[in-house]
Amino acid sequence: MQVPSHVEYERATSVEHALSLLSRHDTRVLAGGHSLIPMMKLRLAQPEMLVDINRLTELSYIKLDPGQLRIGALARHADLLDSALAGQYFPIFHDAERVVADPIVRLWGTVGGSLCQADPSEDLSAAFAATRATAVIRGADGDREVPVREFHLGPYETVVGRGELLAEVRVPVQPGTGSAYEKVARRVGDWSVAAAGAVLQLDRDNVIAAAGIGLTAVGAEHFVAAEAEAYLRGRAPDEESFTRAGKIAAEHCHPVADQRGPEDYKRHLVAELTTRALRRAAERASRPKRKKTA
Ligand SMILES: Cc1cc2nc3c(=O)[nH]c(=O)nc-3n(C[C@H](O)[C@H](O)[C@H](O)COP(=O)(O)OP(=O)(O)OC[C@H]3O[C@@H](n4cnc5c(N)ncnc54)[C@H](O)[C@@H]3O)c2cc1C
Repeated sequence: MQVPSHVEYERATSVEHALSLLSRHDTRVLAGGHSLIPMMKLRLAQPEMLVDINRLTELSYIKLDPGQLRIGALARHADLLDSALAGQYFPIFHDAERVVADPIVRLWGTVGGSLCQADPSEDLSAAFAATRATAVIRGADGDREVPVREFHLGPYETVVGRGELLAEVRVPVQPGTGSAYEKVARRVGDWSVAAAGAVLQLDRDNVIAAAGIGLTAVGAEHFVAAEAEAYLRGRAPDEESFTRAGKIAAEHCHPVADQRGPEDYKRHLVAELTTRALRRAAERASRPKRKKTA
């Protein structure tokens, strides 16, 4: 199939308008459309109505509030890549966005669409899981907050319900933190064979106070390497710890063999990419941050 089945189309003029349309049976949000439209053409998705949110500029922002970076669901991949603020506090997002698809997809694809698509190979799902971000879901009765680590129910399934949309992602800003993202793909712009994101918080004695590790494309539960994170807490940020954490992450994920490679190759990548991401996150955590305002 190369054409979608019949579908109604409405352009939302406000968030409230979008929410009222979304409360109807079998409606879907249309953001960048880079995932939804191909799925409709393949008849893997056959919504009765599309609610286009592209004019809702109130959902398109990246800003810093005390203690958190706030990213509107309609911020494009390119906006996140261009944001000096995001890069200053979370270089993991710049690392990840540089390797998400190609410039055409990045110019129109959105942060919210990426998370809501819930593809098991999505890069931002791993990056947000590593940063312990929170998703803000808006409905007729107001907002509810869900940790990104509980946002995905499985492949292509999230906790966003009928009559709701993802409005914002909030990322906690902690002092002494560094982050990084490492990905291997078969070619430039392709989906991951495997990828790992790391966030490290070092305390004053240069001990790991908290670690966040996100994995994508390798069947990690909720995109998280929880056992490796637990191992790192209280340890020194050195090669021995990072190598061991990489091995633990590789042992506990569940990659499947496919056209991107066999299972043992993917486990090898998880160990190596986790180690590299942790190493780079630690370097960035110990480096003084330059002040940027844009
Ligand atoms: C050629 C190509 C290469 C790609 N490579 C990569 C890659 O390397 N790494 C990667 O991570 N991704 C990759 N992608 C995926 C891309 O990043 C996502 O498809 C895109 O960002 C999804 O966002 P969108 O705005 O286009 O979502 P849409 O296609 O508009 O929507 C996707 C889904 O999310 C829902 N949705 C969207 N926004 C909201 C919202 N605010 N609230 C509730 N539901 C919502 C829609 O209803 C739909 O179900 C690639 C895509 C293409 C086409």
